[in-house]
Amino acid sequence: MATRPAIGIDIGGTKIAAGLVSGTGEVLHRLVTATPGHSEPEVEAAVVDLVRAFSRDAPGAPVGVGAAGWINPDTGTVLFSPHLAWRHEPLRDRLEERLGRGVTVTNDADAAGWAEWRFGAGRGEDQLVCLTLGTGIGGALVLDGALRRGRHGMAGEFGHQMLVPGGHRCECGNRGCWEQYASGNALGRDGRELARAHSPVAQTLLAAAGGQPEAIDGELVTRMALAGDPASRDLVAEAGEWLGIGLANLAASLDPGTFVIGGGLGSASPQLLETAEDSYRRHLTGRGYRPYARVVRARLGADAGLVGAADLARSEAR
Ligand SMILES: [Zn+2]
Repeated sequence: MATRPAIGIDIGGTKIAAGLVSGTGEVLHRLVTATPGHSEPEVEAAVVDLVRAFSRDAPGAPVGVGAAGWINPDTGTVLFSPHLAWRHEPLRDRLEERLGRGVTVTNDADAAGWAEWRFGAGRGEDQLVCLTLGTGIGGALVLDGALRRGRHGMAGEFGHQMLVPGGHRCECGNRGCWEQYASGNALGRDGRELARAHSPVAQTLLAAAGGQPEAIDGELVTRMALAGDPASRDLVAEAGEWLGIGLANLAASLDPGTFVIGGGLGSASPQLLETAEDSYRRHLTGRGYRPYARVVRARLGADAGLVGAADLARSEAR
């Protein structure tokens, strides 16, 4: 029974990815649908349809849902979600009622971190910090083989450590959060700023954006850095420097054995990881007198969220 498949659902701002996941973390069958508007009933209906589509292959399989936001792990209530209109939404109860079976609801970065620990780059590491680098920074903490979600389900919001008081404004309302300096959004903002300053060093980047500074985003900067554009490489190096400073802070508090770095940006830029590891080693407190944590790239790619959500559902169903 321990290896029976479970259904994992990853609710994103633009799409909902679903997979039937084996006990060894393999995605046996997958479905994707566009996130239908942002209203609760529409999104719930889409999740129910996806689960039912797997019913013939895996009747009664446990269902795990991952979503961005603050989720109370005891009640499965979404307290707040950045992409969706959910505020104090009893998502787990609603879905259980409609599906007639147990549902587990988890923060998406926690689900991804759990998947990397179970089946990916964090396997065999009992003190693990996992970061999902995309437009922002998501985090997960797996200590002594258990996902640590904090007293209110909000642990792992590492992206909102304040690194630069009075710095760039963050979506969370504060200024100077880590994710304003080491994320896709940070790369895009700095790339646009450089292009708008009519800096000659930004010429290649600007040309790649069709001459429109506002078309520059983190993805473009990352791609241009990979292609060797010096200005884009400088921007990635700067983000990597900040990324490493945040890792050093996390190591000072948590002393993990490994940092696993994934997400769209984390997976796309080897340069970012190399610069971050170098910066981490230069900023770690007690350096020279203590071991360094490994900094490794995540292995499960975009599947991590749904694989982790499914596996958590399976382990809770036992
Ligand atoms: Zn913030």
